[in-house]
Amino acid sequence: MTTTEMTIFDDLESNVRGYCRSWPTVFDTASGSWLHDEGGRDYLDFFAGAGSLNYGHNNPELKAALIDYIARDGITHGLDMSTIAKRNLLETFQRVILEPRGLDYKVQFPGPTGANAVEAALKLARKVTGRTEIINFTNAFHGMTLGALSVTGNAGKRAGAGVPLVHTTAMPYDGYLSDTDGIEWMERVLDDSSSGQDTPAAVIVETVQGEGGVNVARMHWLRRLADLCAKRGILLIVDDVQMGCGRTGPFFSFEAAGITPDIVTLSKSISGYGLPMALVLMKREHDQWSPGEHNGTFRGNNPAFITAAAALEKYWADDALQKSTLIKGEHTHRRLSELTVGYQGLSTRGKGLVQGLVFDDASQAGKVTQLAFDRGLLVETSGAEDEVVKLLPALTITGAELDHGLDILAAAVDVICTERVN
Ligand code: PMP
Repeated sequence: MTTTEMTIFDDLESNVRGYCRSWPTVFDTASGSWLHDEGGRDYLDFFAGAGSLNYGHNNPELKAALIDYIARDGITHGLDMSTIAKRNLLETFQRVILEPRGLDYKVQFPGPTGANAVEAALKLARKVTGRTEIINFTNAFHGMTLGALSVTGNAGKRAGAGVPLVHTTAMPYDGYLSDTDGIEWMERVLDDSSSGQDTPAAVIVETVQGEGGVNVARMHWLRRLADLCAKRGILLIVDDVQMGCGRTGPFFSFEAAGITPDIVTLSKSISGYGLPMALVLMKREHDQWSPGEHNGTFRGNNPAFITAAAALEKYWADDALQKSTLIKGEHTHRRLSELTVGYQGLSTRGKGLVQGLVFDDASQAGKVTQLAFDRGLLVETSGAEDEVVKLLPALTITGAELDHGLDILAAAVDVICTERVN
């Protein structure tokens, strides 16, 4: 421990605080994949602001664009007024992201968090279809507001709602059941007028469940799900808050499946700089909002629009980042696979630069992340029992940094998992 003064956090900040308990130091500065605390210690970041810092901390080009904008007194707060920053972002998003992918989405700016985007998506799906029910999946995570919680799996988080969470049904995610992929069951209950399942307004899905334990849906499962929805007039919402913006390789995590969701939610890394911002994308025919029907004071975080546009230009005008993410992801997966061979009760799964190290004994995962912190690596756990160490480095991390973090992790596993194979 450093000489860090923590008293004010313990005295004044609510018990609800979380990450500061796992990582008990006071951070001061950060750049790229490194954070520095006030005691002068350096920490390699395998957490990336829970997926909000795909391009690293204080990315120099994005920072320069932001400083220029602030220095010329560009609009900081704009509700949903038209601004140069917003126009530039919309034009860039259309040119760099939507048009090359043949996507004809309208763009909504909800409040700046992932949960805001999810709430807007659920509302819109209900309005468009005139139905109330939503189908979600086991182990899903969509945020902490009431609508988002109603489609979230975790019992502890749901209990915090304090009211019944209604009008949703959880179906088995890909891989949840060993003998069926769950799609057949969904088809059966949706087509059986006596099943007790009303036709839902929408199905909401993550292509990889980040908080749920790095559960990866197969592409053909996603295609079957999209097909199931299309055939029954059910809207498909892909929550790309954590897996979008290149986390799994392509900009949208659903691209490889060749599907076009009706509604897409984006947040976290869309601003590129860790600034609060979210988007809801909807097929043109679903844009049935009336003016102001869904609103919010902080929809117009213009500095975030500046860094978002700069990030799209820098990282998505070509496929270099997508390719390097896939290469780094494969490398990480290979190293984790090698690691699992040496110990009992250890396995790995993931896609692109979201990779999980899964412990049969859940308590070991938390011990590994604690030891990793002591040795200068920030990495968190996820999953129903916090049994998965979730690796979420910046996509811009260097090969040497990636290996350094993997070395720390491997050494921590070696200390905690005493029961070696052979
Ligand atoms: N959806 C997904 C898939 C997420 O991973 C998260 C956050 N972890 C959210 C929604 C909620 O985002 P926020 O915390 O910004 O409300």
